[in-house]
Amino acid sequence: MKQSHVIRLLPVLLLAWLLAGCTTQPQAGSTSGNTRNQESLSVTDRIDFERSSNEAVEKKITDLISQMTLEEKIGQMTQLNNSTIVTNANWGAGTDLSIEIKVDTGKLGKILRTYHVGSFLNGIAVPAPTWYTFYKDLQTHNLKVSRLKIPILYGVDHMHGPNYLEGGTIFPHAINTAATYNNTFPTAMGHITARETADLGHQWLFAPVLDVARTPLWGRFYETLGESPYVAATMGSAFVKAAQEDSDIAPYKIGATAKHFLAYSDPKYGWDRSPTDISEQALYEYHVPAFRAAIEAGIKSVMINSGDLNGEPVHASSRVLTQLLRDELKFKGVAVTDWEDIIRLYRNHKVATDEKDATYQAITAGVDMAMTPYDTHFCDLLKELVKEGKITEERINLSVARILRMKLELGLFEHPLPRNDRFNRIGTAENRALALEAARESIVLMRNENNILPLAAGKKLLIAGPVANLKSALCGGWTLRWMTDDETLYPKAMPTVYTALQSQFPSAILATTTAELKAKAARVDAIVLAVGEKPYSEGFGSIQDITLPADQQEIVKAAQATGKPVILLMVSGRPRVITNLYKGCAAMLFAGWPGFEGGQAIADVLSGKVNPSGKLSFNYPYSVNRLVPHNHKSAEVVLAHEIDNPIALMPFGTGLSYTSFEYSNLRLSDSTLTAGMQEITASVTVKNTGLREGKEAVLWFLFDEVASISRPVRDLKYYEKKSLKPGESAVFTFVIKPSEHLWFPDSRGAKRLEDGYFTLSVQNLKARFKLQQKPDDRAL
Ligand code: BGC
Repeated sequence: MKQSHVIRLLPVLLLAWLLAGCTTQPQAGSTSGNTRNQESLSVTDRIDFERSSNEAVEKKITDLISQMTLEEKIGQMTQLNNSTIVTNANWGAGTDLSIEIKVDTGKLGKILRTYHVGSFLNGIAVPAPTWYTFYKDLQTHNLKVSRLKIPILYGVDHMHGPNYLEGGTIFPHAINTAATYNNTFPTAMGHITARETADLGHQWLFAPVLDVARTPLWGRFYETLGESPYVAATMGSAFVKAAQEDSDIAPYKIGATAKHFLAYSDPKYGWDRSPTDISEQALYEYHVPAFRAAIEAGIKSVMINSGDLNGEPVHASSRVLTQLLRDELKFKGVAVTDWEDIIRLYRNHKVATDEKDATYQAITAGVDMAMTPYDTHFCDLLKELVKEGKITEERINLSVARILRMKLELGLFEHPLPRNDRFNRIGTAENRALALEAARESIVLMRNENNILPLAAGKKLLIAGPVANLKSALCGGWTLRWMTDDETLYPKAMPTVYTALQSQFPSAILATTTAELKAKAARVDAIVLAVGEKPYSEGFGSIQDITLPADQQEIVKAAQATGKPVILLMVSGRPRVITNLYKGCAAMLFAGWPGFEGGQAIADVLSGKVNPSGKLSFNYPYSVNRLVPHNHKSAEVVLAHEIDNPIALMPFGTGLSYTSFEYSNLRLSDSTLTAGMQEITASVTVKNTGLREGKEAVLWFLFDEVASISRPVRDLKYYEKKSLKPGESAVFTFVIKPSEHLWFPDSRGAKRLEDGYFTLSVQNLKARFKLQQKPDDRAL
């Protein structure tokens, strides 16, 4: 826009600027866009504020609460593990979590009559008829005992498809989903999880994980959608919408859970459930966006971070659970604790003198439901606290209203019982084809020297390495059990890397040890070496060293010493450091934990049946001392480029194909975004210059060149994936909007929109544009 136009439009522009609630200049202490400093609502006002527009639902909540005893209300706030109500529970024996999914009506009756418990959770994978009978018995018995006929809400950790259902469709873990840069897959996973499990009473999904990857030291790295807050927000809410809004599961509905609120994924020393100490600004920069997006998508519940955040255990933090979650993000659903986390306030965090004090702190902070999960102390202690006047009954009503609203909105009162006439929807060929497609698109080809891949038909292969012939190692934690490497639990027909490759390369031979590898290598053309990790969950992933273990390094070195080309597969929940071995490999793929269809997907990529299109959703670390996410701030790496101090072995976004793509004609519809202009459009032409069809994910990054707060050096703002035939070109566009893409949060979460230059980058092309919303003084 020309300067003369700016002068004429000045009054309009000023008004728009004020209405937008944005600062265009650095201003200390700006609080626009958040309510951090506002008074929290009183409990009564909060109850009113949270009422939905559905009058029937609200009337029912009011009626029920007016009739409920204190004990009945507290029961609604309690969630027990199903090991407390089944006939045979074998818990406590280390990681052996085997239980029989059969209701013990004696145990259940006692719990219901005395404590009126309103929610149960978890399980192991059992066949659909077993789940059906279990839930039918659970709910039927509950409705007999429940004076006010309040249904049970059952929670399950279906984290990558229905992983606690035998015969279900198992998708790749989230770290793989992110690498697809294709929203088809989180959407498909949301629908398929809902369709395969809602009939069985699994109506409360403890998914998606919206923690962003910040360090591969954290053992739950694989559960994240990678390092980008934008990917976590986009794919996370795609999953939420698909699961919660699926109409094919009628008359049932699903409620999803955003977890773990907030900043769980950046523990200072890497240990799971341990403290995160980060700046308030980083909290808003990296951790809030995905939760904000899920809340805007209508998510029904959040699960709380088990660790400390900036010195406060989150389960006892009203700053996080009330001011941030409720006042600022306007969340109106249910906040459930994580496993045993009230008890841990005094056992681990040592902020409470005993369990009663812990209960007081958690409820005061904003907890609605306690996943206690083995006993009912919570019920007794909370009752005492109310009787002693330390917690008001009104406060209890607030949580109960939220929980009843969720039960009503899920239709549980009208349709409390499961059904068994749609089992044919489970694990269908169609669903599995989508999981296979997701796995294929999630494999990242990081290196392919001299185009060793794809492997020509007829090649003689040695398939080696400790995970080459394991099913469990393709799936990681949260598969059939909380974590298991018991191969007998896996479907008979599920291929491993070895068996899948063998069906395409019939002469392929297997070697799982170094000695075997050395003995057999002379007979083959190439070695496919599958290294990585066996399944772990949560704290069991808190390892000492993320370097590839020494025994696995030995087998890689032995393979390289044979002189045969080595194709290295990293089958793991996080990148294990392999810098010393990397260049000695002809090819390398990060396969992550691709799920039941993963063996097939890997074989399809190696043989070229599928052209790889995954791209890293994190910086693959160069060394254990340099765990730097791609979206670090400029000042966080010093002299990285001047001395030999690489930031990553391979950066975020790396991903080769068997064809080649050429990016050209990066254009911007304007070079300056002046006030009143809503957007500029960037476009780039991508041409398939190779010989075969391929999919290309185009990743658009922005860098705010000078700002009042140091900005990430690369911030992914948009992605799109298309398939291109040889010789075909497509124009990809990214519509840049100040209100969506150019602002950044200050340390209070306030939106700052500052004038200045931005660098747009897409693959190796860059363009600059200027934001100039504030009237230019020189024009006056
Ligand atoms: C995990 C949660 C999970 C819960 C219930 C916890 O230990 O942190 O992610 O939802 O257990 O299984």
